[in-house]
Amino acid sequence: MTRAYDYDLFVIGAGSGGVRASRIAAGHGAKVAVAEEYRVGGTCVIRGCVPKKLFVYASQFAEEFEDAEGFGWTVGETSFSWEKLIANKDKEIDRLNGIYIRNLQNSGVAIFQSRAILKDAHTIHLIAEKRDVTADKILIATGGTPFLPAHVPGIEHAISSNEAFHLKTLPRRGIVVGGGYIAVEFAGIFNGLGVETALIYRGEKILRGFDEDLRDHLSEEIRKKGIDLHTMCDITRIEKTDAGVVATLVDGAKIETDFIMYATGRSPNVEGLCLELVGVKTKANGAIEVDAYSQTNVPNIYAVGDVTDRAALTPIAIREGQAFAETVFNNNPVAVDHSIIPTAVFSQPELGIVGLTEHDAREQYGEIDIYKTSFRAMKHTMTGRQEKTFMKLVVDAKSQRVLGVHLMGPSSGEIIQAVGIAVTMGATKQQFDQTVAVHPTASEELVTLKEKWQPPAD
Ligand code: FAD
Ligand code: NDP
Repeated sequence: MTRAYDYDLFVIGAGSGGVRASRIAAGHGAKVAVAEEYRVGGTCVIRGCVPKKLFVYASQFAEEFEDAEGFGWTVGETSFSWEKLIANKDKEIDRLNGIYIRNLQNSGVAIFQSRAILKDAHTIHLIAEKRDVTADKILIATGGTPFLPAHVPGIEHAISSNEAFHLKTLPRRGIVVGGGYIAVEFAGIFNGLGVETALIYRGEKILRGFDEDLRDHLSEEIRKKGIDLHTMCDITRIEKTDAGVVATLVDGAKIETDFIMYATGRSPNVEGLCLELVGVKTKANGAIEVDAYSQTNVPNIYAVGDVTDRAALTPIAIREGQAFAETVFNNNPVAVDHSIIPTAVFSQPELGIVGLTEHDAREQYGEIDIYKTSFRAMKHTMTGRQEKTFMKLVVDAKSQRVLGVHLMGPSSGEIIQAVGIAVTMGATKQQFDQTVAVHPTASEELVTLKEKWQPPAD
C-alpha cells in the first residue's frame, strides 16, 4: 500500500510529551518520526526536573554533616567540588539521553536531530536537513522556554535555569529573581551549596496560588536557613562590573553579586514554528489552544505538554501525550483530567500539595473544616535544628471529603504521592482517621489530626 504521506505521525519536540506520544502511537502500528532541535529527553531530563533534583541532593549534605553531630558523629573537614558535581550530573544526563534515544529507536520511531517548522497542515520543514517531510497527523510538543523581562536594562547579563546547570564555577554570591517553583528550588540549591543567596520577589509572598499557610511557613524556614528574601522588590537595572554584576532595586538600593538568575516563568515555545501560516490558534501568551483531546482548530494538528499551558509538569505532559496517541491511533478517546494534580516543590524544606487550597475550597464549597499542625520533626530534637514541619488538611464540612492536603517537611514529595491516591479517590476525613498510623513517622499526623482549627478570637 502506498501512503499519501511520509509518516502517519510527525512529532515536533522529543521531550516528556513528544516521546511518550511517539512511542505509544508507534506501538499502535503508526509510522512515526520525531524532530528534536536540542537533546532527546527534553526539558525534564536534560535541564529540568532530573538535574535539578540531583542539585537538591548535593545541596543538602552540608546540613546533614552538621546534624550528624547531635547523633554522636564527628565529621572531619569537608569540601565540595562544583566541577565534580557538574561532571557527574552530565554523565547521568548523557546516560538518560541515551536511554530515551534507544527507547524511541526500539519502538521504531525515526529521529531527526533538527529544528522543525510547519510549512502547511501536512508539511514539516527540517531546518538541519534542508528538506520537507509530510505527515497525516502532526503533534506539537515543543515545551516552554525561560521568560526573562526584556525591558530591564542589562537583562543580557542575567542567566536562566538553562545556564545555571552549566556554570563553570560555583559563585560566592548570587541573586535569584522570582517567587515560583524554579526560584524557590534554586535559591535553596545555591544556599545549601554555600552561595550567599538573595531571593527577590515582586509580590508580598512567594508561591502565589499555593495555600497561604504553606507560603508563610516556607518563607519563614528559608529565611532561617539564610536565604535573604526580599519581597515587594524588583530589579530595575543590571550592570556588569569587573567584580561581577550590580543589581539596582526598585528603591534605588544596589546589590553587588556574582550572578543573577531569573526564574520568572516560562513561555510556550512557539516562536518561529509558523503556526500562523497554518492557522493554528493560540492564546494571548502564545500557548496553543486545544480541546480536551489535545486537538487544535486545525483538525490534523494536535499539541500536548507545556506548549499548551495547561499544567506545566512532566507527568501531565506524559499523560497528555499518551492520551493523544490512544485517542488518535487506538480509536480509544481519552481526555486527561487536570482537576486533581499532586505536586512537589523541591524547596528546602520540601513541599507536597494535592487538591484545593483553603481559600479555593472556601470559595467552591462554602463551609470548610481545617486541621493543621506544626511541629519539630523527631530527628531535630537531637540535632537542635529549629526547622518546622507543617501539615494541613482542608475538608468539606458537609461531605467530610478531604479536598486538599498541604505539607512542608522532609520527603513531602514522597508522602504526597501516596496521599494523592486517597484524595483522588475522594477519601473522607473519617477514612483518613480509620487508617492506622505508622509510628514513629511525621506523616502519621495526617491520620491522627483530631482538633478542628479555630481562627483565633479577636
Ligand atoms: P519539553 O520537555 O520542554 O520538550 C520539548 C522539546 O521540544 C525540547 O527538547 C525542545 O528542544 C524541543 N523543541 C522545541 N521546539 C522545537 C522545534 N521547533 N523543532 C524541534 N524540536 C523542538 N516538572 C515536574 O513535574 N517536576 C519537576 O521537578 C520539574 N522541575 C523542573 C525544573 C526546571 C528547572 C524546569 C525548567 C522545569 C521543570 N519541570 C518539572 C517542568 C517539566 O520539565 C516540563 O513540564 C516538561 O518537561 C514538559 O514536557 P514537554 O514535552 O511539554 O516539553
Ligand atoms: P512560575 O510560574 O511557577 O513562577 C514564576 C515567578 O516569576 C512568579 O513568582 C511570578 O510572580 C514571577 N514573575 C513573572 N514575571 C515576572 C516579572 N516580569 N518580573 C518579576 N517577576 C516575575 O514559573 P517557574 O519559572 O518557576 O516554573 C515554570 C513552571 O515549571 C512551573 O509553574 C511549574 O509548572 C514547572 N516546574 C515544576 C517544578 C516541580 O514540579 N517541582 C519545578 C520547576 C518548575 P507572580 O506570582 O507575582 O506572577
